[in-house]
Amino acid sequence: MDGVHKVLHSGWYILGSSVKAFEDDFAEYCGTEYCVGVANGLDALELIIHGYDIGPGDEVIVPSNTYIASILSISANGAVPVLVEPDLQTFNLDPAKIEAHITPNTKAILVVHLYGQACDMNPILEIANRYNLKVIEDCAQSHGALYGDKRVGNLGDAAAFSFYPGKNLGALGDGGAITTNDEELYNRLMALRNYGSHKKYENIYKGYNSRLDELQAPILSEKLKWLDQDNEKRREIASYYSDHILNSEVILPIVQHTSKSHVWHLFVIRVQKRNHFMEYMNKNGVQTMIHYPIPPHKQEAYREWSDLAFPISEQIHAEVVSLPISPVMEMGEVLRVVEVINEYRTN
Ligand SMILES: *Cc1c(COP(=O)(O)O)cnc(C)c1O
Repeated sequence: MDGVHKVLHSGWYILGSSVKAFEDDFAEYCGTEYCVGVANGLDALELIIHGYDIGPGDEVIVPSNTYIASILSISANGAVPVLVEPDLQTFNLDPAKIEAHITPNTKAILVVHLYGQACDMNPILEIANRYNLKVIEDCAQSHGALYGDKRVGNLGDAAAFSFYPGKNLGALGDGGAITTNDEELYNRLMALRNYGSHKKYENIYKGYNSRLDELQAPILSEKLKWLDQDNEKRREIASYYSDHILNSEVILPIVQHTSKSHVWHLFVIRVQKRNHFMEYMNKNGVQTMIHYPIPPHKQEAYREWSDLAFPISEQIHAEVVSLPISPVMEMGEVLRVVEVINEYRTN
């Protein structure tokens, strides 16, 4: 690829013109003023929280059924993650449950557009506005999803993206980005990702080393051109599954807003006899996965939460199964998945 060759021959491998070009491309795509390339999605979240001075004594509301990185980013800053249950139908944070968890120490709501579906943002933004809370988006699974006429990444105060290879926009290694319209935060983040320095050897913050790799940037700029098309392919597969899977043992995922508000990072169904179902699928040549098998409050890393109960999350974690979905899937493979599922019986 030309862009990769350009970097190789430039001799400039850290924070060069390719990272800057990708940041401009991605900000434009998301509709935000600014984008900051960072090393990965977890760092993107952690840097936003740090950038807003959220730390010890502060609380951040976060869904109880998210991928662990969303929660780790809060803990890493010394702040307290306050877990709130999702909606069983959408798997996303339930706006109606947020307010009961707000205290004088609450500083932000970290929303996760899980599995690729944009959260129900209007009621969340309304609550945040009323209590003067920051809204941070975890967009690691939702590149390109629309809420109304805006893209995720442009719905709150700041947003974190991951470019881990398996994401809807993936690099050939680790990568991440932050999008925001907040100029002050942007300026801080530009220093925070680079040792807290705007000017070499002058450190105004206790910063990080978390930079988007220069070699990944041209790859991401190129792949960004295909993102909408890839997401459309995912939508076609998802709607085929939704229209043709017919089995009373299987609960299909729902789309809450418009078809464009979901980019189907994962197609997640719920099945009561999960092990039995997954074994059956495997025997019939269809590989399924679980996102995620253990709820965050049952993780060893958060053993202090082991006595807490989050029944909806626990049900989700016990029942979810991810079906194959990717822009490179052939239609024949999609038909086969449907056929196998429709023949599934529990006895
Ligand atoms: C992948 C992911 C992350 C972390 O991204 P990395 O680039 O792997 O650090 C954070 N949040 C969610 C919801 C993710 O799926």
